[in-house]
Amino acid sequence: MSITPFGALRTHGGGTLRREHAGETVTIAGWVDTRRDHGGVAFLDMRDRTGIVQVVADPEESEALEAAHRVRSEWVLKITGTVRERPEGMVNDRLPTGEIEVAASSVEVLAEADTPPIPIEDGVDVAEEHRLRHRYVDLRRPEMARVLQLRSQATSVIRRVMERHGFLDVETPMLTRATPEGARDFLVPSRLQPGETYALPQSPQLFKQLLMVAGVERYYQIARCFRDEDLRADRQPEFTQLDVELSFGDEEDVFALVEELLAELWSDVLGVEVPTPFPRMGYHEAMRRFGSDKPDLRIAMELADLGEVFADTEVGVFKGALGDGGVVVGLGVPGGAAMTRREFDEWTEWAKRRGAKGLAWGVVEDDGSLRSPLAKFMSDDEIAGVLAATASGPGDAIFFGAGEGHFTRELLGALRVAVAHERGLVDDDRWEFLWITPMALFEPTADGGIKPGNHPFTAPSEEWVDDFADRPLEATSRGYDVILNGTELGGGSIRIHDHALQLKMLEYLGIGDEEAQERFGFLLRALRHGAPPHGGIAFGLDRLVMLLAGRETIRDAIAFPKTQTGSDLMVDAPAPYEAEALKELGLRLAPPPQKG
Ligand code: ASP
Repeated sequence: MSITPFGALRTHGGGTLRREHAGETVTIAGWVDTRRDHGGVAFLDMRDRTGIVQVVADPEESEALEAAHRVRSEWVLKITGTVRERPEGMVNDRLPTGEIEVAASSVEVLAEADTPPIPIEDGVDVAEEHRLRHRYVDLRRPEMARVLQLRSQATSVIRRVMERHGFLDVETPMLTRATPEGARDFLVPSRLQPGETYALPQSPQLFKQLLMVAGVERYYQIARCFRDEDLRADRQPEFTQLDVELSFGDEEDVFALVEELLAELWSDVLGVEVPTPFPRMGYHEAMRRFGSDKPDLRIAMELADLGEVFADTEVGVFKGALGDGGVVVGLGVPGGAAMTRREFDEWTEWAKRRGAKGLAWGVVEDDGSLRSPLAKFMSDDEIAGVLAATASGPGDAIFFGAGEGHFTRELLGALRVAVAHERGLVDDDRWEFLWITPMALFEPTADGGIKPGNHPFTAPSEEWVDDFADRPLEATSRGYDVILNGTELGGGSIRIHDHALQLKMLEYLGIGDEEAQERFGFLLRALRHGAPPHGGIAFGLDRLVMLLAGRETIRDAIAFPKTQTGSDLMVDAPAPYEAEALKELGLRLAPPPQKG
């Protein structure tokens, strides 16, 4: 025997009924979406996962009609009836079931329901907190139900592609020790070993590398990861990654796999054919041209390095910046001359909020001259140089940033995106995939130090293996990120599989021998037991689903997400815990800090 298609209580999914079912007696069950009483006749729109179908109860079936009068929105009903074609003129083109209706012979109430806390319809205008508190009802809304279905379809495509290429699905521990992805750990105190804690994994990074040492060769996992970060932007403390690692391969294997996977996802889920291979761009080039390590290529504007144009300038701020070893960067905005003085001032304020001293700007007049508070300090050659470098002409505007290189480029890069969105310069119909590779081996920290561009297990590019320490901020790595429309979908690298090089890297990062042994001893030991060359990648599944589903926040891509402050409003977590149980764990929670 096999499982019935719609459950033993039903013969059909309501949303699957069509004209060819006319004349059949069917039993459906689901929720009352809407009820309309028209004198002697009651209409029920019944909703289940397959869709919506109209049920009619008329006086000929008095018991069914009486029940239909009594029911309310979101009650759960089981209805038996006959499928019939709707009369001429009553067909509803907007419903796949719109040509038929079910004439009820029996209406059975399976469960009553309180008044729904939110309307069950798309695009509801209710506070998200309210939706999250009643998520089980929110997920009934068709647009949310569609996201859940899409997510399941996406993971099924992922498994199909991974299995096609011989990847093994291996689970790695949740109760483990710290993994270095740069966030804080969530800790789980141990009862059996008082005074000690587990950490929840920030990623399966070390375990997947150990699986390569173990000879698994090709691994994947749809893995839950935990990062205790200040929840800026659109992040979740727990999230899902598609995590991948392979042995005896190089970057090209990873690129080919990921391109096949993403192309198949876009084709299967959206019916969109994505051209492969994806273009590639180095990290340093991306920073120079777009001021970002995840450039949105739907925006045509590029940053222009104006260092040469202003090499001998009398413009004080530019001269100062260049004299300090900094940069002058320009951004031409097509059609930007239409912006008002006030708008330019607002962009300047925007830049100041991001820590810039200011932002200079200019407008190209019809005669090709530059109108700008700085124009009187610029020579004709400089103005001509600016117009050429920023590809600007009459009707365009130009923003200027000056200062330390990394900061100034990032500022203008963010401005490029913000201005493009504000002024409708983003070509929304495109899917622009891009590889950023090679990556920077290190990135500067705010306090003038360095940190790994990726994580400390990423291999330096061949040419930097011996002397990455000499010019660390120029050194590149065998890391890669895959970007879509300015969003990082995933990232990874070819790893260091040589024990001595891994030790050297940790040492260079200030993780001394003893600390390295303490934190990563197991990995370092494994690297002495025959580690094959290996590398991999991980994707944020939630973000991927969000983009595929066209949603604005990753919370919409997760069945039971947390708020910006890490709360689950439905189950009310986190929550206080009984003192007795804490004692057993050797814990005492400090009282919350006084507010105000
Ligand atoms: N472990 C990395 C991350 O979570 C991905 C990788 O290097 O494969 O971002």
